[in-house]
Amino acid sequence: EPGKATNFIRNLIEADLAAGKHAQMRWAGQPGPAAAHAGAPLDAAKIRTRFPPEPNGYLHFGHAKSILLNFGLARDYGGVCHLRFDDTNPEKEEREYVESIIDAVRWLSCDWGRDQYYASNYFAWMYEFAVALIEAGHAYVDSQTAEEMRERRGTLTAAGQDSPYRSRSVEENLDLFSRMKAGEFADGAHVLRAKIDMAAANINLRDPAIYRIRHASHHNTGDAWCVYPMYTFAHPIEDALEHITHSICTLEFEDQRPFYDWLLERLAELGLLAWPLPQQIEFSRLNLTYVVLSKRKLIQLVDENHVAGWDDPRLPTLVGARRRGFTAQGFQLFAERIGVSKADSWIDMSVLEDCMREDLNARAERRIAVLDPLKLIITNYPAEAEESCLAPNHPLKPELGKREMPFSRELWIEREDFMETPVKGYHRLYPGNLARLRYGFVIQCTGCEKDASGQVVAVHAELQPDSKSGTPGADNYKVKGNLHWISARHAYQAEVRLFDRLFAAPHPGARREGDAEGMERNYLDDLNPASKEVIHAYLEPALQNVKPEESFQFERHGYFVADRVDSQPGRPVFNRSVTLRDSWAK
Ligand code: ATP
Ligand code: MG
Ligand code: MG
Repeated sequence: EPGKATNFIRNLIEADLAAGKHAQMRWAGQPGPAAAHAGAPLDAAKIRTRFPPEPNGYLHFGHAKSILLNFGLARDYGGVCHLRFDDTNPEKEEREYVESIIDAVRWLSCDWGRDQYYASNYFAWMYEFAVALIEAGHAYVDSQTAEEMRERRGTLTAAGQDSPYRSRSVEENLDLFSRMKAGEFADGAHVLRAKIDMAAANINLRDPAIYRIRHASHHNTGDAWCVYPMYTFAHPIEDALEHITHSICTLEFEDQRPFYDWLLERLAELGLLAWPLPQQIEFSRLNLTYVVLSKRKLIQLVDENHVAGWDDPRLPTLVGARRRGFTAQGFQLFAERIGVSKADSWIDMSVLEDCMREDLNARAERRIAVLDPLKLIITNYPAEAEESCLAPNHPLKPELGKREMPFSRELWIEREDFMETPVKGYHRLYPGNLARLRYGFVIQCTGCEKDASGQVVAVHAELQPDSKSGTPGADNYKVKGNLHWISARHAYQAEVRLFDRLFAAPHPGARREGDAEGMERNYLDDLNPASKEVIHAYLEPALQNVKPEESFQFERHGYFVADRVDSQPGRPVFNRSVTLRDSWAK
């Protein structure tokens, strides 16, 4: 069954469900104010996951892995998955990114069942929780400079040292923290830190900062706040307020888990949160060859115009994939095929391309396109005449019917389908040879015309009148060559973009064998100079009236989609999504 392959996360969820872990809520004392939070009413026996992007860029293929994992688990175990914006960094976040993320998650067919959540909507809760930690002696205001804090943090092998401000009284801490919030201090003058253990082996437990001063406008809360929670403080609280049961993240957060647990346990002891608390679970992130999956690098590619924007079909962004004609179902197939684990590994781009091919092969109707045209003249067919040939829309789905393709005296064929002097094993058109025009007639090549430079400009042939496909005579001809063609008079000439991989090296920027010691490579040096080719191709007339985002297999060429940005009504332009075969395989 799709999506049901087991993995360590599913095993853990099934064990939790079997034990009834989430069926009962326990509070220290009376249920605290968080009990009434909007996230609460859900059948407690189900699971609740979340996808928590920071709205500071466009989503990429790595995010798709996380999205399909989190929404897939919620679907399979009768739960819900929250789309939550982790927007605690005012300077980097923008509404434009929020919108693009909403679109991308919807496009992947994931449904979060209500409005999305925003970490910034919990700023008041977070502030109150911080105050409660101060009151309980679990947090203090530190007034060291960033440098002094760094010096006292210690190293992996040496314990840190206590800040001289660590023993401030609760009253003084409360006073300073409220004045931080009131805007009395400049950025960086003070921070609020958790009071844990400066000698902890895990450096993340050496009194991590939990609040900082930032006089900055926020995309959601405007100028309401000038103190903002640190990510490591905010994230566990967001999860707990939404009653997330399984908080799934990538492996680089493993070292943060002890603080995640420390924080939520303290808040639960104070009666502010209920048990069971959310559990953080880490899995290995997606690493994919021939692309870069880092917002920082993607921003550089866009800003420096190496690509034509966030939705450039060559970029590994989800908006780019959508324009390219990759499909949500193809990503679903990919997510199932690569699975989840805790082992870091690289997935080859061909795995993703194969998934897209498989999905498009099953669904895309077939059409004819001539990408590198050469004129073919049927010399025994009258110039004014025309007739129809019937072509099946999908070889595996006869229920999709057939369409009519006009046939006339002058046709376009692919240049590679004619050779004046054939090489051994060549079965297509050469003088004297018989070949079939697919869904049409068998023809015999009689010669060609050349221009002054010797370039072939037209091929001549005669058709066999009794050989039309679908008529009884057709079976009398056994020919090996089978060409696609378009009636020149009826053709729709359109712009077609042939995309290839954005990088020519599997690990952009990585060292190569033979590189001098210490030599650094720049991933930009590995850009594939031939990643985009624009051609003007001849398409069968039925393609003139397709809608943006409709996908087709152009027979013998690959899968193409009508571009959702540049297509005009009656004038679609096409992007090649993926070739028919893996052209990168040896
Ligand atoms: P980047 O590393 O590209 O800057 P990010 O991790 O900062 O991305 P977020 O918006 O914070 O981006 O990520 C949202 C979610 O997507 C997080 O849970 C994160 O772990 C997950 N995620 C990000 N990149 C990948 C990846 N390559 N594979 C799987 N999950 C990922
Ligand atoms: Mg991030
Ligand atoms: Mg990151």
